Amino acid sequence: MDDDLAALDLRISECRACPRLVAWREEVARVKRAAFADWDYWGRPVPGFGPPDARLAVVGLAPAAHGGNRTGRMFTGDRSGDVLYAALHEVGLASQPVSTHRGDGLELYGVRVTAPVHCAPPENRPTPLERDTCRTWLVQELALLRPTVRAVVVLGAFGWQAALPALAAAGWTVPRPRPVFSHGARVRLEPTVPGAAPLEVFGCFHVSQRNVFTGKLTPAMLREVLTAAATEAGLRPATEPRGGPADAQGRQA
Ligand code: SF4
Repeated sequence: MDDDLAALDLRISECRACPRLVAWREEVARVKRAAFADWDYWGRPVPGFGPPDARLAVVGLAPAAHGGNRTGRMFTGDRSGDVLYAALHEVGLASQPVSTHRGDGLELYGVRVTAPVHCAPPENRPTPLERDTCRTWLVQELALLRPTVRAVVVLGAFGWQAALPALAAAGWTVPRPRPVFSHGARVRLEPTVPGAAPLEVFGCFHVSQRNVFTGKLTPAMLREVLTAAATEAGLRPATEPRGGPADAQGRQA
């Protein structure tokens, strides 16, 4: 196992364990979308994004073909990312509301954004085998975050099903039967590793275009979950001071 996240991220970006996804991500990178014809697509697994001592993790599904697979950064360059990073910025966890490309200056404050599948899948649908094959990376990432992470927001049912076994393997006890996904679900996991801390897991509808377009997930709903999780993780005060919300450093907005 890698002893730091940077080394893990590097190894993830070189993974070729899933033949179908390797072929797809590289085909998309070669053919490109007309609007991005002048881009040099990433075309590889997309590692997690955010500081190695994050107190909050956000777990999605997989990179988008012309989003993360193009830019090389999670939720960067697609509509889902627009929604997610705007919300993170609004609750004080990101330096800016937009995420367009690596090197755009975006910084996350205490948050690590990752996914259970690191390669863009056709139609955003990894197979169960691909999900299970990629789990080893999520387990290692969560284990490396274990000293600091105190809350996890899981976006969507796929991520929920993938994250719970990964969390169990990374050092927390997942109740049996497994908790069911719902928007607003909240589960406390006790640690199995001596000295480790409990983890609060939050369910949230995925920030997919469809969910946002249909109003199944509104920006307010997303902000509410992120605020609760950030508070649980110690990134925001439990009670906001009078005068408005405070950001992650406690400054008044
Ligand atoms: S999905 Fe995960 S396990 Fe499969 S090739 Fe990509 S990084 Fe490797």
